[in-house]
Amino acid sequence: MKVLVINCGSSSLKYQLIDSETEEVLAKGLCERIGIEGSMLTHQPAGMDKIKKELDMPDHTAAVQFVLEALTDPESGCIASLDEIDAIGHRIVHGGEKFSGSVILTDEVLEAITECNELAPLHNPANLIGIRSCSKLMPEVPQVGVFDTAFHQTMPAKAYLYGIPYEYYEKYKVRRYGFHGTSHDFVSARAAEILGRSRDDLKIIVCHLGNGASISAVDHGKCVDTSMGLTPLEGLIMGTRSGDIDPAIVDFIADKEGCTAKEVNTILNKKSGVLGLSRISSDFRDLAKASAEGNELAKTTLEAYAYRVAKYVGSYVAAMNGVDVIAFTAGVGENNAEVREMICRYFGYLGVTIEEEKNQVRGEEIILSTPDSAVTVMVVPTNEELAIARETVALV
Ligand code: AMP
Repeated sequence: MKVLVINCGSSSLKYQLIDSETEEVLAKGLCERIGIEGSMLTHQPAGMDKIKKELDMPDHTAAVQFVLEALTDPESGCIASLDEIDAIGHRIVHGGEKFSGSVILTDEVLEAITECNELAPLHNPANLIGIRSCSKLMPEVPQVGVFDTAFHQTMPAKAYLYGIPYEYYEKYKVRRYGFHGTSHDFVSARAAEILGRSRDDLKIIVCHLGNGASISAVDHGKCVDTSMGLTPLEGLIMGTRSGDIDPAIVDFIADKEGCTAKEVNTILNKKSGVLGLSRISSDFRDLAKASAEGNELAKTTLEAYAYRVAKYVGSYVAAMNGVDVIAFTAGVGENNAEVREMICRYFGYLGVTIEEEKNQVRGEEIILSTPDSAVTVMVVPTNEELAIARETVALV
């Protein structure tokens, strides 16, 4: 089967066409600045150079149309006609409490997703527009929704409730949901597979450390806790997001700076994290360089980042009463040996020992811990698109 995987943002659309038998990516690309002047399509067929085109994309339907044209283009395309696309898998950010797994997208399901819009006002409406655009252009092709929140729906109430009046949960569903679920599911399953074990027999902590970052505790195959909350702002210090802070800071800064709580929220999402702390960059490559050149704030930022990760891991060891596997994934987790080492230095109490040479490997599946380490520490590259394609095939 050929599956088109679509990830729609408010002004962007990422796609991959995946052959589900070989799990090969036939083509991938990105539409940027949809609805804004200067919209652009970057299309990359497998084994060929990227093709960039400035195209007029007033809306997502136009963007999907250009993607379909790029995929069937006689020169740069990878399929002869749209009939070759057997199914479409969509990444959907928020499924609220309604979705604990992937679903075939029907009118009823779209209505239920629309009801989750207020929990992810920037993301869900964009996801829905992407789905409707595909329905318009390819009405016969089955579509599947894969939710970022679904894997975490197994969290018990003690993990998902906040210590605030219960009525806010009853009235507005204010609770912890967690995100990056597709990645936490994929990586924990793959970690078990690499070890030749069943995930149902293991206690796994997945550290998804990318620009957005989250940790999850996967106990015998089920997620029992994760670091992101009602929104992806909670938890770790991220590229530009603050992660956990004292909630009183919002009011305090709003008062001092003469701005609204909404504006502070934007600062916490877009100008905080390692970017705000270091005053250098949200990119860990820039931070590593600055730190190596002796920039003290860059060094402190990396220390604060690693410390927060280590504290979360510790709390999940407590939550699961132990841990068998700690898996690193995503941009930083897969590639940044220095940050991994800084984090692993805290795990002496767990009996973790790391092979320094193996820790230098980038972007590959590898076991970093020594054979006698009490806990297996590994790198497992994530692949959310492949996970979405697999879910799609399983459902259609
Ligand atoms: P992601 O959101 O998963 O794409 O991760 C983005 C983050 O990964 C950025 O902060 C990058 O600095 C980091 N990253 C990606 N590649 C590398 C690399 N080769 N070395 C160090 N950090 C990297």
